[in-house]
Amino acid sequence: EAAGQQLDRLVRVQPDFPQPGVLFRDLTPVLADAMALDLLARALVAPAPTATLVAGIEARGFLLGAVAAMSLGVGVLALRKPGKLPGEVLSESYDLEYGAAALQVHPGDVPADARVLVIDDVLATGGTVAAACRLLRRAGAEVVGVSVAVELAALGGRAALARQEADVPVSTV
Ligand code: 5GP
Repeated sequence: EAAGQQLDRLVRVQPDFPQPGVLFRDLTPVLADAMALDLLARALVAPAPTATLVAGIEARGFLLGAVAAMSLGVGVLALRKPGKLPGEVLSESYDLEYGAAALQVHPGDVPADARVLVIDDVLATGGTVAAACRLLRRAGAEVVGVSVAVELAALGGRAALARQEADVPVSTV
């Protein structure tokens, strides 16, 4: 709560980006501030101290996932957009407001007993993190939590996720 209030001041709120009517939260000023970045990294992992692996969602989740993994002392797994990973991949699709998207992972990068914490910058409708949870489970992992920096509560992502991933706790900084 206290960390969230400190970080909130650094989030840039940009109207009409990337399209008219969207109020975009830009976290680049948070990442550029050494103290804020450290605070955020620790707050993201606090709810899941027993995770053995962090998964960061492309692309902004990579930055947060990496610093969060370092603060927990575990590795980071990149959940990538299609066409970026060589070799055999698992793929999980999800719907966007306009069109569809997918996340991919190398199944061989996920240890059989992995307890994974999924990290992204923003939870909006919840479709992205729900796909990440499905993908990781198909790769054999247990998803022990989802942690995001910012939750856009009006978009209902938490409730949507609870319907699909009832056992996965969601935390917001
Ligand atoms: P969802 O799938 O929950 O609707 O959307 C979440 C995904 O879209 C996240 O990967 C996030 O990076 C991106 N996203 C949606 N809205 C925003 C926003 O206002 N700011 C940022 N930085 N990302 C957003």
